[in-house]
Order: sequence, then structure tokens, then C-alpha cells
Amino acid sequence: MSKHGFITNFQDFAVHDGFGLRVLLFLKGCPLRCTWCQNPEAISTEYELMFHPKLCKGCGKCLEVCEVKAINNDGTEKVDRSKCNKCMKCTYVCPTGALARKGKWISSDEVVQTFIDYKPFFDNSDKGGITLSGGEPLFQPEFAIDILQKCREKGIHTAMETCGYANYSVVSEVVKHLDLLMYDIKHMDEIKHKKGTGVSNKKILENLANIRRDFPDLEIFIRIPLIPGFNDDEENITQTAKFLASIGIDKLDILPFNFLADAKYNALGIEWRHKRDERQDDEHLQKLAEKAKLYVPDVTIGGLR
Ligand code: SF4
Ligand code: SF4
Repeated sequence: MSKHGFITNFQDFAVHDGFGLRVLLFLKGCPLRCTWCQNPEAISTEYELMFHPKLCKGCGKCLEVCEVKAINNDGTEKVDRSKCNKCMKCTYVCPTGALARKGKWISSDEVVQTFIDYKPFFDNSDKGGITLSGGEPLFQPEFAIDILQKCREKGIHTAMETCGYANYSVVSEVVKHLDLLMYDIKHMDEIKHKKGTGVSNKKILENLANIRRDFPDLEIFIRIPLIPGFNDDEENITQTAKFLASIGIDKLDILPFNFLADAKYNALGIEWRHKRDERQDDEHLQKLAEKAKLYVPDVTIGGLR
């Protein structure tokens, strides 16, 4: 039987979130609250209203339908978030997509059919396939399992990006349907982890050790999203690499800070606290990679290829 899930969008022909050519599905909802989140529209389990000023042509149709007068007619059609009740009526009349609803219910069968349509492309690229991302795929485990299981039955390579924060009984049920796991470790220090993400890292580290033990053949890449001044120091990278070596994980990808998410925060009407942070320079990234290589043999910078 088909399951239903809440998503933000598909992204086709992605090349950094797994091997080969991939189609990504972003599931909506996440138990963490990372201050640097790159997909803020995927955090909540509710619909989101996004406003893209560059697409607005000033037709005023949104003002006519907004019953709570949450839209300012000042030439940029800004939304007053304190008044907006997310009825989404403005998104139905906006002719340009300047006002857009994020969030869509979809059946797993529809998702799988979409993926099957891309199979010829996957088959022509080395280990190409699908990647479940988010938000957090483990937040909707039945939906994720149904998709992964059916894709595998069709011979499609399956991957998942996760923060690993769920009960292990859930994690193991999802992981058993994967060919590739991309697993984030945000900080080795529990207190700092909690400060940056809202949760302890204990369950995340324990789950990773259990996955390695229970799925010895699964290809696992650990990723560290480097956040300036939070986790991009040599000590944290060294501690992470030591931990990985201790549980038998040999692949680590360090991801330079990506400031491009600022446009998404603006569209959601949120002031992003990292908007002025900059990407780490290449010299620093190399230094971190060298530190990690003392414990982990396969260290990459900036995504899998
Ligand atoms: S979502 Fe509804 S309340 Fe919010 S700005 Fe649009 S029409 Fe107004
Ligand atoms: S309906 Fe869309 S394009 Fe027209 S004024 Fe509103 S936001 Fe701009």
C-alpha cells in the first residue's frame, strides 16, 4: 500500500549529494534546529509562505485576497508575518510565483514513479540514483522506507542524507534499504552540539556506531558542515576523525560553509544569523583535511562526486 509524505520539492540532475547523476527528494520536517540550516523551508512540518521579490510584478492580486491585510503595498509586496495566518490564498492568485507555498503531500507511489522516469539517466551514470534529503527523512520513516524499498526493487541506487537523530529501531529499519548513507556529525562536544542544533549528539553518535556494527557492507560517508567559529577548528575535526576511526568508518567529507541559503531566509521573512559568515579559505580547509587524514584514510572536501 502506498504511503503519504510531506515534501518540499524534487531536485533533478544533482551531482553533489551522492554518486553519479541523482534525483533528490526533500522531505519536510526536522527534529533539529541548526542555526545554519541550508534548507530552512524544510524544517517545519507545516506549509510555509515564501516571497521572492524579484518575481513580483506589482499586479496587486495578492492584496485583494488577503483577508487579514498581511501584505504591504509598498512596491515590494512584503508580507507581515505577524499578521499572516498562512491561508495561502495569495499563492493561488499570484501569477508569477513570487508568493509561493512550500510543502506538498504526495504518495510514495507517485514519488517512485517520478524516480522510475529518470532510470535511463541513472543507468548511464556511475552509481547514479535517488537521494532522500530534507528536512530529515527519518522524521517520516514509513514514507521513506516505502520509497527506498520500491526503488531498490526497480534496481535504482538508493541514498539518504541524515542527521541521524531518531530511535535506533527506526534508523535501522530505514538504513537496511540503502546503498549509500551520508551522515552528518555537527560537533563532537555535546554542549556545543546542543547549542548549535538544539539537541544532544549522544543519540547521533551511538546510532552511527550501531549502524557500522549492524551494516558492515553499507557505504557510509560522514559529513561535517563547517560553520565558521562553531565547528571548523582543528580540535573538533581531530576529535571527529578519532571517533570515526574508533568505530571503523573510513570516509569523511568536509563541507565548506555555504552562504547561499540567505536568499531562502529572506523569502521566509527570517533574519539569518549566519548571513555575514564567509566560506572557509582553501588553506584552512586543506589543514583540516590533513588533520582528519591522520585517522581517516579517505577525506574529501566539498561533496561526493
Ligand atoms: S498566506 Fe493568507 S494571510 Fe498570509 S499573506 Fe497570503 S493571503 Fe495573507
Ligand atoms: S500577486 Fe504576486 S506578482 Fe502580483 S503583486 Fe502579489 S506578489 Fe506581486
